[in-house]
Amino acid sequence: MPRKTLRDILSRVFHLDTPIFLEVAMKRHSLLVGVIVLTLGATLLDAQGRGRGQGAGQGQAVNNNNSGMPWEALRAAVMIPWEGVPFTAQKTEPFKVFDNISYVGIETVGSYVINTSGGLILIDSTYAETADHVLDGVRKLGFDPSNIKYMLITHQHNDHFGGAARIKQQVPGARVGASLEDWDAIEKGTMIARDLVIKDGDTLKLGDTTLKFYVLPGHTVGNLATEIQARGNGKSYRTLVGLAFAPAPGMTAASITSTERLEQLGPWDALLTSHSYLAPVAIPLTAQQILLSGAPDATRKPTGHPAAVGPERINAYFDQILKATRDRLAREQARPPQ
Ligand SMILES: [Zn+2]
Repeated sequence: MPRKTLRDILSRVFHLDTPIFLEVAMKRHSLLVGVIVLTLGATLLDAQGRGRGQGAGQGQAVNNNNSGMPWEALRAAVMIPWEGVPFTAQKTEPFKVFDNISYVGIETVGSYVINTSGGLILIDSTYAETADHVLDGVRKLGFDPSNIKYMLITHQHNDHFGGAARIKQQVPGARVGASLEDWDAIEKGTMIARDLVIKDGDTLKLGDTTLKFYVLPGHTVGNLATEIQARGNGKSYRTLVGLAFAPAPGMTAASITSTERLEQLGPWDALLTSHSYLAPVAIPLTAQQILLSGAPDATRKPTGHPAAVGPERINAYFDQILKATRDRLAREQARPPQ
């Protein structure tokens, strides 16, 4: 299959929302197609199993935080090619998402830089091993890392804070921010003294830009999302940066409340998630979407910017997440995890 054709198919299937995903796809297309087919097959088998009788599928323990969630197939497709490969092999080129927000992360973990008239704000650091990659990305985009005024950590997981100490070492003047609830773990994990403590509803102004923060328990106790007006094509888009959804064990109910709240806080024009595979792309893929890749996605209306998928798609995505999370809660209540 000529590369152009495959790229064309994938870009239609994934609506070109995830250029980094496409890059992985182009590099490792045969494996990727295999993963998608396998995952779809597993999903179909699972659905069949559930349909056969009451017991099948329902009694299974939730084996990981992403199990059954809308992004499960896409996550597998993004993650599996990099299993057993050093993080530093993920040489993702940085790219502009909006005029004022760019991606400087690696293939499997996001990091965003926001450029304001008063300096730069970095959201998440990725791993310790890839912190320099993040700073190189900032440079490649034409920005000076020493101009990073704030480094905000979305939540207390190593893939997001692991590089913070290295970045703080390179940019000692940068203030480090995280939610009150997640700071304890971040302090222990980074050895960075507790600095900017962010509470739900707080705002932060830098130059021409104001950020607003939401603390959304579910993935962690203090999972943080950042609201910003993203700019592109002469328009402004109400955007959330740094979202993570996968409910942690014991936090499924909190996760439902947080996702409901996110939806109520809408309409949102764009979600820049903390991992590319959490983005509101039209998954799980159906056989029709793969075989007839030109099939239109009814939930998607043009918004004037390729990264702004629009409130219709985003609300549909929230509803998908809510359904999956409520299903999980029902399973947990039927048979609590041991
Ligand atoms: Zn996480």
